[in-house]
Amino acid sequence: MMIAENISLAPLTTLRVGGPARFFAEATSLRDVQEAVGFARSRDLPLFVLGGGSNLVVADSGWPGLVLKVAIAGIEQRAGNQNGKVLFDVGAGESWDRFVSQAVMAQCAGVECLSGIPGSVGGTPVQNVGAYGQEVSGTIESVQVFDLKDSQVRELCALACEFAYRSSIFNTNERGRFIILRVVYALTPGGEPHLEYADLRRHFEGRETRPNLLETREAVRHIRARKGMLITEGDPDSRSAGSFFKNPVLSPDQHEALQNRASAKGLILPSYPALEQQKKVSAAWLVEHSGFARGYSLGRVGISSKHALAIVNRGGATAADVIALKDQIQQRVEEIWGVRLEPEPVFVGRD
Ligand SMILES: Cc1cc2nc3c(=O)[nH]c(=O)nc-3n(C[C@H](O)[C@H](O)[C@H](O)COP(=O)(O)OP(=O)(O)OC[C@H]3O[C@@H](n4cnc5c(N)ncnc54)[C@H](O)[C@@H]3O)c2cc1C
Repeated sequence: MMIAENISLAPLTTLRVGGPARFFAEATSLRDVQEAVGFARSRDLPLFVLGGGSNLVVADSGWPGLVLKVAIAGIEQRAGNQNGKVLFDVGAGESWDRFVSQAVMAQCAGVECLSGIPGSVGGTPVQNVGAYGQEVSGTIESVQVFDLKDSQVRELCALACEFAYRSSIFNTNERGRFIILRVVYALTPGGEPHLEYADLRRHFEGRETRPNLLETREAVRHIRARKGMLITEGDPDSRSAGSFFKNPVLSPDQHEALQNRASAKGLILPSYPALEQQKKVSAAWLVEHSGFARGYSLGRVGISSKHALAIVNRGGATAADVIALKDQIQQRVEEIWGVRLEPEPVFVGRD
């Protein structure tokens, strides 16, 4: 395995900001992972594990240690477990959307609403990727990891991953401990598509037959493209890290206080069944009602013209530019609504 030096990280991310990695390696096997970890340990270098770079803000000073890109490939379809599911054992370096496409073509349900999400398979358990009413936690059977604590390979069951809204052990209490090597998804052969979200239902309005998995996948990709949430060549609104803020999860008291602030301004806090189930409020609504319209600009960065939650690089932006806009939004939303928005992307390195 080659270990390169001073590799620019911005082109390896969807937001395209940030400085270089002091050392950089790409692992296509467990052996490569072990070798890279050995290299980092022998030089006492901090290690950062990179997937598809779609959920990152890399610091302008870059990463002072080793960046290890996990590029383990392979999609293996296996006979079902006891519940009649089909198991897909997928290398962490596979493109997530390629796997979804393959699952849909095999008529297996469970991930069709997650079509078009950029990044790698190994990135999906980290923040329990979700969209249009599905989350990967709904289909993950197990995650194979390299444990940096004792250098062992382990198989973690879904329960051990402690999945919740945009979280798991991988981005909370065990952050930095595991390198994800493979993920096993249990999908439903011949299953119906999940059509819970209003956007999707609207897309199929007036149809008499139920859409199939492939039509659902295409609808999701179409809706995402309209919102700049599909990486599309030539669409400057897709030069982002996706939604920049999580939907805040509030206690009943906090929710009531927010509703009161809204009604004092003659506004009604939007409520959708999908948000209410998890006691979430729409971060996009809070941003838009704090004076940040879609298309807002702050120098070389701005808010997508198609989606209030995406911070986009309008060309030549730095991580400092992105952070300045993030701070401005957080501050204004907190002043007006008393809610602190939490960023969704991972901040890599320090400036
Ligand atoms: C246009 C756009 C739309 C998006 N839409 C959605 C959406 O609808 N829903 C959603 O949930 N997310 C969305 N995202 C965010 C992002 O695509 C997901 O979080 C994705 O799963 C990140 O995967 P990645 O491989 O790119 O990870 P990276 O961005 O490379 O890394 C993210 C984190 O995961 C860790 N990581 C990655 N791979 C591994 C590994 N093999 N082992 C251990 N740790 C690892 C990294 O260390 C880092 O902490 C969107 C992003 C963009 C740009």
